[in-house]
Amino acid sequence: MSKKLVFIGGGPGGYIAAIRAAQLGAEVTVIEKAELGGTCLNWGCIPTKALYHNAEILHTMKHSEDFGISVAGYSFDLAKINLRKNHIINKLKMGIASILESYGVEVIAGSGSLIDPHTVEVVYADHTSKQISADYIIIATGSSPTIPPIPGIDHPNVMTSKDALEFSEIPDHLVIIGGGVIGMEFANIYNAFGSNVTVIEAMPYILSNVDKAVAKRYQSIAKKMGIEIQVATMAKRVAEKDQGCEVTVEGKKGEQQIYADKVLVSVGRRPNVSHLNLGNAGIEFDRHGIKVNTYFATNIDHVYAIGDVNGINMLAHAASHQGIIAVEHILGNSDDATDMIVPACIFVSPEIAIAGLSEEQVKEQGIDYKVSRFMFGANGKAMTLGDEEGFVKVIADKQTNRLIGVHILGPHASDLIHEAVLAIQNKLDISHLKHTVHAHPTLSEAFYEAVLGLDGEALHQVKTRRK
Ligand code: FAD
Repeated sequence: MSKKLVFIGGGPGGYIAAIRAAQLGAEVTVIEKAELGGTCLNWGCIPTKALYHNAEILHTMKHSEDFGISVAGYSFDLAKINLRKNHIINKLKMGIASILESYGVEVIAGSGSLIDPHTVEVVYADHTSKQISADYIIIATGSSPTIPPIPGIDHPNVMTSKDALEFSEIPDHLVIIGGGVIGMEFANIYNAFGSNVTVIEAMPYILSNVDKAVAKRYQSIAKKMGIEIQVATMAKRVAEKDQGCEVTVEGKKGEQQIYADKVLVSVGRRPNVSHLNLGNAGIEFDRHGIKVNTYFATNIDHVYAIGDVNGINMLAHAASHQGIIAVEHILGNSDDATDMIVPACIFVSPEIAIAGLSEEQVKEQGIDYKVSRFMFGANGKAMTLGDEEGFVKVIADKQTNRLIGVHILGPHASDLIHEAVLAIQNKLDISHLKHTVHAHPTLSEAFYEAVLGLDGEALHQVKTRRK
């Protein structure tokens, strides 16, 4: 008899794992209280990337003279931009629904919580409820924005990322509290649309989890684009002022007031663990999320937790891959997440992509390493695109001669990173990469050259005296 799996949450964790479970012959139910596709499709990855592309077009228009093309005058239509964004979301959502249907996955619109390790209660929109029993329960309820305890943060002009995606007006002055990935992606978008953007970041650098060389370089590029960035600065309070609000910040220069038509708060996300009655099933969790092992099983047999709700790696593809590992484990596979390399991409101009360890982490771990950088300014394809800013930085372990970290700041970094993921995940020797032919002229040649540079063999780089 097939096993019955019930998923609470139909985001990229829940719905992908549901498809995989159905492919493996399980009887599958997905309970979703809002929209299939979750945060990623409806209020995260996809809408931000639709707007990011609008920003890229505007950026290209501003520099069209560099390509010998004069554009007499251009404007944008926010209603059409929103329509395009929403069309993409709806098309993808319909796609998910029809794939789930084709696999016979039952989708229930309602809110799920645990009665015990084998029973979920679903509450429908009309407040009626029913209980569903399952052999396995997979919690995939995602995360929500963290709202810091700053006085005045509940002012109506303060937005979360979800509000900022409605994109119904472009504020003259936008203050973004938090210079992490989401904050900087919105800074890039709103800056391209003409807002005066100020980013307030408590840490000494924006993008604090990114390799310092990359974060530092991007910070100066963003400033050059007109994004004001105040690091080592805390937002203290928000108060009503004229039609907007005044944000009081405290940094190196002491206290200062900044006027904002709108404020975006993006200081992180917290796992959605409340309302699940985790205590009923004895499931361990803390403020970082539900505790899981390398198969994403909780401390209670037959209950798993995947995606943002376990707090391990708040990225859509991580949620999906965790879901696949979990259901394959439930249904008889033994591969776990040890050694799983999860790339991270940041959609700013130019893009940032990361795989493996940063140089700071490598140093912390005491690894004997070698490092090399190749600049996109020396890459023919980047020149043809007019996108010469940035570099590929590769880090290798001297003992094993394998890549352990790759950091790309530059054009199409989010597409280029996968060669690095493949190499790190599969522990390829540097010599294998050196003997992999890269087509010309491509951006991928920058990765190849960076790898050659590990042994002082980069070809499009002047000879340096080796120490
Ligand atoms: P979610 O996508 O949050 O899905 C959880 C689902 O569970 C939701 O649909 C919710 O309605 C449902 N749910 C919650 N509680 C219950 C309940 N009790 N009963 C029933 N249903 C419930 N990640 C990337 O990889 N790339 C990006 O470019 C990227 N951009 C982002 C941009 C923004 C602005 C934001 C906010 C996030 C972004 N992310 C990005 C992160 C990404 O969205 C999340 O990592 C991903 O959505 C996590 O997937 P999940 O399935 O764990 O949770």
